[in-house]
Amino acid sequence: MIQLPSLPDEVFAFQDLKEDFSYAWISPAQREAYLSAALGAGRSAAANWRGHALDEELARAGVAVRCWPDAPSSDIHSQILWDGGTHQIDIFLPTARAVGEAMAGTSCPLAPEQVKDAFLAHEFYHYLEYSTGHWTDELCPPVSKRIFGIFRTPAPIRRMSEIAAFAFSREFCGLPVHPKLMDYVLLYQRRGLSESELLGRMERLAAEYYAACGRAEEGLL
Ligand SMILES: [Zn+2]
Repeated sequence: MIQLPSLPDEVFAFQDLKEDFSYAWISPAQREAYLSAALGAGRSAAANWRGHALDEELARAGVAVRCWPDAPSSDIHSQILWDGGTHQIDIFLPTARAVGEAMAGTSCPLAPEQVKDAFLAHEFYHYLEYSTGHWTDELCPPVSKRIFGIFRTPAPIRRMSEIAAFAFSREFCGLPVHPKLMDYVLLYQRRGLSESELLGRMERLAAEYYAACGRAEEGLL
């Protein structure tokens, strides 16, 4: 059985932050502020919705939830379509099943049904953004991006939505680990990599976060 490490959510949130198109313009001293604003937004939304049946809320709001028996690719989990009259959330069941099967061999087993609920909760957070017109990046000032080395233009950090959606899902569903760690477990199993390789990767991710955000490593793993 794979003993999964307990890592702060910031370690995985940082991986999302790094993928933002405007990440390079966030000053190192501000990285932590973007992470904590996004994580806080997801967690407080989860507290607001605790006790609600998300599928019923979505049905009431006219959002169709479709659970697909096939997935267009093996790494797509779910998506929200919000365009004109289309308000739809797609959940791809083969991915939920695969993540559940991968997690079964760990210290934090999850049934595919729980993984499916986690996917739905993630998209529910995006639904909250679309339906209210309030975006998570509005919680922090946009960065000042330089174009052609001359012009400065403000750029929002859109990946904050993703960080918040994962935080919402983790908090609302009471997941034992960050959802992105679940993906790493699946990835490593698919590639036939060992537990120590997985744990080594987690240690490197944690070290990268602590170095990038200027924090001392605290009792990691
Ligand atoms: Zn998302």
